[in-house]
Amino acid sequence: MVPLGKKKHYTGIVDRVHHETPEGYEVKYAFALLEDQPAVLPQQLKLWEWIADYYMCARGDVYNAAVPAGLKLEYKPKVETHVRLTKSYRTEEALQQMLDSLKRANKQQDMLLTYLQLSSFFEGGPSEVSKQDLLAHHNTSVAVFDALVKRGVFETYPYVISRLSEKGRPVSGLKTLNANQQRALGEIKQYFESQSVCLLYGVTSSGKTEIYIHLIEETIRQGKQVLYLLPEIALTTQITERLKRVFGAEMGIYHSRFSDPERVEIWNKQLSDNPYLIILGVRSSVFLPYQNLGLVIVDEEHDSSYKQQDPAPRYHARNTALMMASLYGAKTLLGTATPSAESWYNATDTGKYGLVILKERYQEIQLPEIIPVDIKELNRKKMMYGHFSPLLKEKMEEALNRNEQIILFQNRRGFAPMIECHDCGWVPRCVHCDVSLTYHKHTNKLVCHYCGYTTSVPQNCPECGSQDLRDRGFGTEKVEDEIRELFPHARLARMDLDTTRSKTAHERIINDFEKGKTDILIGTQMVTKGLDFDHVHLVGILNADTMLNYPDFRAFERAYQLMAQVAGRAGRKGNRGLVVLQTGHVDYPIIKNVINNDFESMIHAQLAERQVCHFPPYYRLVYIYIKHRQQRLTESMTALMTAQLIKVFGAERVNGPMQPVVSRVHSLHIGMIMLKIESTASFVQARKLLLQVEQLMHQDARFKSLQVYYDVDPV
Ligand code: ADP
Ligand code: ZN
Ligand code: ZN
Repeated sequence: MVPLGKKKHYTGIVDRVHHETPEGYEVKYAFALLEDQPAVLPQQLKLWEWIADYYMCARGDVYNAAVPAGLKLEYKPKVETHVRLTKSYRTEEALQQMLDSLKRANKQQDMLLTYLQLSSFFEGGPSEVSKQDLLAHHNTSVAVFDALVKRGVFETYPYVISRLSEKGRPVSGLKTLNANQQRALGEIKQYFESQSVCLLYGVTSSGKTEIYIHLIEETIRQGKQVLYLLPEIALTTQITERLKRVFGAEMGIYHSRFSDPERVEIWNKQLSDNPYLIILGVRSSVFLPYQNLGLVIVDEEHDSSYKQQDPAPRYHARNTALMMASLYGAKTLLGTATPSAESWYNATDTGKYGLVILKERYQEIQLPEIIPVDIKELNRKKMMYGHFSPLLKEKMEEALNRNEQIILFQNRRGFAPMIECHDCGWVPRCVHCDVSLTYHKHTNKLVCHYCGYTTSVPQNCPECGSQDLRDRGFGTEKVEDEIRELFPHARLARMDLDTTRSKTAHERIINDFEKGKTDILIGTQMVTKGLDFDHVHLVGILNADTMLNYPDFRAFERAYQLMAQVAGRAGRKGNRGLVVLQTGHVDYPIIKNVINNDFESMIHAQLAERQVCHFPPYYRLVYIYIKHRQQRLTESMTALMTAQLIKVFGAERVNGPMQPVVSRVHSLHIGMIMLKIESTASFVQARKLLLQVEQLMHQDARFKSLQVYYDVDPV
């Protein structure tokens, strides 16, 4: 802890101890030392430095994200008061005497007997007994307890209890891999002899997870640690259960919904002599200390949730994990049914990664049949039931009659429910940000998803006074209402960001669906990811067009991934599943690719286009953001910086000023410039030049207070 200024104390990390004379800054004494043992390992510091450099942010931003708050201040372990016998009463003889002499103090005698029972004193004990437990087992007052303490029979002591669950014995061994899976595992191990990264492209339900489990087992048998990364907390539930069955208490879980004290305990455990051998976690688990990392598995490697958007560090956990593995000399396995363009390119074109393909589903279950439905035509003929085509409605009826479960997928991006004035088209907007407000029907509130601003729905349109305010577009809530009308008896669950805010909500929704308590699960991206249900035959994609129309060079790649993933939920065990794909673009090649499960044609077409248009993986992108309260200043600095960048990098590498998706947040105006650097060029050099341009801009007195920040490899 170091004092900075008069009142503030900052927590820092001692990076290096040296004897060089400080120059150019004032030296202060450290105020206190919070840890007597190092709280971070040298490899962590190295990795964090790489993150700060590569993603162009301050090292402090990385520390801040990496280190749980409890380590930055004094960490207090959780302590309970426990009870034990004093030394003089730990023999049977002494106890018998005491029990005899307590004959007249019945309650005290009772309590002593209860203690002996709870602590299993005569059956191999004593084991730990908390004061609270003892009193709870006994209908008497604290006074009885105090009397026994006074007599010198009991004494209390503080007992540090762990917040981590150490329970869970392995209950099953490894599953025997079938021939295809065995071949894939063999190929992966072969690649690992000579290469450090391997991409496992295996269709949904091909048994990728079983292959991971075999690799994990081999790695920990060699005494090395494994990091198993998942893109989303919602996914950890099912995978956790599968891995716990095999690895029991060897595995720890780490994600942001854990309380800070829990995170500190995992951190400290990883530094101890008895660390978890396996960490299962989301992107922040790349920050944990690893003493002996041997293998990193990045499951669903294509998933854009691996990229942190805001705040800095805007790191990509897959790429950071690759860097981390190379620091430790560990191997990395990237796994997915729909590889990212980047990884596919590295596995096929550059030869940087090994490539292992698994085309068959486990037990040769067929991939689902995908039927496209032209909703443009149906809408024109007014034949839609809200957002349900006659075919989808019919198939849903059939499924419900057969007691089968249904998953409906509704893409959320750019399609939030909104309120609109039917007469003049007015749409409520956030007062701080340049976005329209999202309508939450259950609370009847309008909410800004950027800054949290909340307001109630007005009675009248503020523009024209009309009372005809309606919801426009539809989110999952709207679909939910329609289903209740079409299928009043179906049991329905909705899974999206709004219904899964609490720590256990997604677990509950998934468990209920697994146990058959729900018939229809409707949700956003969350329902597409890696979930494995046994009784789902039908999957409905309500509208593919929002994905296809999204203004982004990755729109098609992402649309394919989403559709292939959600289709993969259909017909896992038992017979062939069915997917009804509703779209206004039945003739698009990408829709054909989805129907034919033809990932390779899709990615070929995409890569060809990226090469022509100078996009990743052929080029690296950096978004440069400029922020200020005043619109005029933001605009003039963005224009000047664009000009300067063109001078340095050349016009073909600079796009700007661009219109950001949201141009005002928290009352700050945002300017945006895109920089494209050939992936074959030196990115170190490019970053250096970029920072020089920023410095130059800040030398201009007018622009001193403008904020500049970067998003490297945006997704
Ligand atoms: P993926 O990760 O590729 O989607 P999973 O590993 O989830 O595939 O496998 C799909 C289902 O098939 C799971 O329920 C899994 O337990 C089962 N399965 C896969 N391979 C085997 C195997 N070799 N033996 C027994 N069950 C298997
Ligand atoms: Zn109006
Ligand atoms: Zn806002």
